[in-house]
Amino acid sequence: MANGDNLEAEINPSEVVASPFESFLNDLHLKYKSLGDGKVATYIPELAKVNPDLFSICAIAVDGRVFEVGDYDRLFTIQSISKVFVYGMALEEHGRDYVLTKVGVEPTGEAFNSIILDERSKRPYNPMVNAGANATTSLIKGAGPTERLNRMLDMFRRYIGHDVFIDISVFMSERTTGHRNWAMAHLMLNFGMIDEKIDEAIDLYFQQCSLMVNCHDLAVMASTLANNGVNPITGERAVDSSYIKDILSVMYTCGMYNFAGEWAYTVGLPAKSGISGGIIVVVPNQIGIAVFSPLLDDRGNSVRGVKVCEELSRNFGLHTFDSGMGSSKFMEMLYRGHIQ
Ligand code: GLU
Repeated sequence: MANGDNLEAEINPSEVVASPFESFLNDLHLKYKSLGDGKVATYIPELAKVNPDLFSICAIAVDGRVFEVGDYDRLFTIQSISKVFVYGMALEEHGRDYVLTKVGVEPTGEAFNSIILDERSKRPYNPMVNAGANATTSLIKGAGPTERLNRMLDMFRRYIGHDVFIDISVFMSERTTGHRNWAMAHLMLNFGMIDEKIDEAIDLYFQQCSLMVNCHDLAVMASTLANNGVNPITGERAVDSSYIKDILSVMYTCGMYNFAGEWAYTVGLPAKSGISGGIIVVVPNQIGIAVFSPLLDDRGNSVRGVKVCEELSRNFGLHTFDSGMGSSKFMEMLYRGHIQ
């Protein structure tokens, strides 16, 4: 079958049963709900207050179909998942060549908050680690802090499809305890990688990390990337399609902290993880997936989130280099029997 329209045309609504994909998500949720491994992040004091039992999975196809289970409407702060979208904004505002002079695209194999720069170029290694995100955030244009913040929030609004807010307690908590980020900003200032207004840039970085989202919102954002930059629910373009491949490439190689190589090997999809327990995964041209569960492994990835994504990839042959089941079968299964 060539595309979704043909698949849909073949469905007889009177024969419709629950989508196998939906059932699969429900089963996965049930299977991993009792898994209590991992710890919630405590290094940002406000994050330690989260309920560790929260768990949700949401997947949104590029045609807007939604599949979700668990606590998908519970709000949490986006944390490092924001780095993906701010990188896209920096690319749009300055172009690929300029952004490459400020931040590389090389995985580090180091923890997300390592205070390291590329020895030769003095650039942060990539935009998915804190140093690189500090650099891309400092590239957001605006006449002053308020305009820069509003422009950034508007970018997130386009991806999410509704107005967005910052969690002030988390923002203040990070601002007063995020000494490593301040240290990195000073180091980059020393090498001319960011400009003098480091207070503004760091505040904006902490604000982007404190953006409030739920698992459904994250899935819409992932699906927007899967849909070449157009929000599949609102139809609004969130980012220029010419930068999607840059964003997804960096997610693929650097999105899962110092687990990125193993993730590429086992799951094989562009993804980004955040310290509050979210993971987004993009299946290009098909579907965006988000998982939220705040219990983290020692590299900072959600324990349940990784398990869920590994099973989804394996079962539906979603790995980029999987020549087995393949993506067309996955699309077929998404459509077969889904109740509107
Ligand atoms: N705001 C966090 C920090 O800078 C982001 C951590 C993360 O989600 O990786 O430490």
